[in-house]
Amino acid sequence: MMGTIEGLQRFDSVRKGRGLCVTRPFKVGELLFSSLPYSYVLSVKERGCYCEFCFTSKEDLARCGKCKKAFYCNMKCQKEDWPMHKLECSAMIAFREKWCPSEMCRLVARILAKKKVQKDRSMSERILLIGELQSHVGDVDNERREMNEAEIAGLHHFYSKHLELPDHKDLLTLFSQVACNGFTIEDDELSHMGTAVYPDLALINHSCLPTVIVTYNGTSAEVRAVQNMKPGDEVLISYIDLLYPTDDRNNRLRESYYFTCDCQECTSKSKDKVKLKVRKQSDPIEPEVISNMVRYARKAIREFRAFTHTKTPSELLEMCEQSLEQMGTVFEDSNVYMLHMMYQAMGICVYMNDIDGAIRYGEKILKPYSQLYPAYSLNVSSMYLKLGRLYMGLERRSMGISALKKAMAIMEVAHGKDHHYLTELRIEMAQK
Ligand SMILES: [Zn+2]
Ligand SMILES: [Zn+2]
Ligand SMILES: [Zn+2]
Repeated sequence: MMGTIEGLQRFDSVRKGRGLCVTRPFKVGELLFSSLPYSYVLSVKERGCYCEFCFTSKEDLARCGKCKKAFYCNMKCQKEDWPMHKLECSAMIAFREKWCPSEMCRLVARILAKKKVQKDRSMSERILLIGELQSHVGDVDNERREMNEAEIAGLHHFYSKHLELPDHKDLLTLFSQVACNGFTIEDDELSHMGTAVYPDLALINHSCLPTVIVTYNGTSAEVRAVQNMKPGDEVLISYIDLLYPTDDRNNRLRESYYFTCDCQECTSKSKDKVKLKVRKQSDPIEPEVISNMVRYARKAIREFRAFTHTKTPSELLEMCEQSLEQMGTVFEDSNVYMLHMMYQAMGICVYMNDIDGAIRYGEKILKPYSQLYPAYSLNVSSMYLKLGRLYMGLERRSMGISALKKAMAIMEVAHGKDHHYLTELRIEMAQK
């Protein structure tokens, strides 16, 4: 399948493992390929905003007459989605507000349903590919194992009526495959829309200096070059947020993907010093004070994450402000741990409709973001978009236009000039 896409070649070597490389030059912004998901699911919280089948966003979506929870562009989308939606439609009616499978569980149910359909139609190449996804069942730690057990219990609870479930061992493998190979579908502001599995993309290895970027158009994934590539160059994406220093990135990679990165950035750690920028004071700050503050910052980030669903927005904002004040005694505003907390604070301000507060944080984040992330980064473009739209909302038009233009410059490379996000953005800028 990969072999049939012009300009790309799959490799499988003892030294480098498997991966994907280009066989012809690609320029920055050029599309390498696009890929349809094997399976995907729209987030429960996005229901009503997007069509469950094609992820089109529009105002007058039509509701499923039975469950009244799923929304579609039209009859055609609804019909096409039925083989997947029927796994949930009557269950949602039966369980009512107690229907709460995780998104991962919903995706796995769809993969199982699809596998069954395809098995009935004789084996397809795609099933082989799903079977080929890396699983790392043996590497899973206790915490992850417990999570997987809970997911399997959820699957039995919510889906056993419509699915013949394979045995426990196979399910463990499947959940761990999806954890390593699942992609989060995000919108232009990087807000989470759904989760999907793309067998083609599972071949692409990680680097902290990626050569390509993945964006979404409906449910299909598009892979574009963010560096000029020459024949033989490997197709590399980033699996993680690249804001953080080398140790944090690799902890994250080991926790979620069971490997340590050895890219040029991980070897040279060239950006670590600016990422961990410390305040200039007349007496330099002791190394011990700095390392203690790094520990504090990592703990604050973990705690904030743990409380996101239990604390109120104002309590969360206070957590951000407190940790910013504490960290600010040692760290510069452009330090990534400061930026992390400011980003969270900005999100809460938007949620609480404190637009001035959100803009204040956004303005502080933008400049360091554009220095610390790679040249074409969705983290940077989405920040320009958010800030630009906030300015436009407050009638600060010239500030707004200037921020939106900066977002567009990145998106033209990452999403392609013809993506509907850019068409919509041009309209947005012409109006008001
Ligand atoms: Zn649709
Ligand atoms: Zn329904
Ligand atoms: Zn790396």
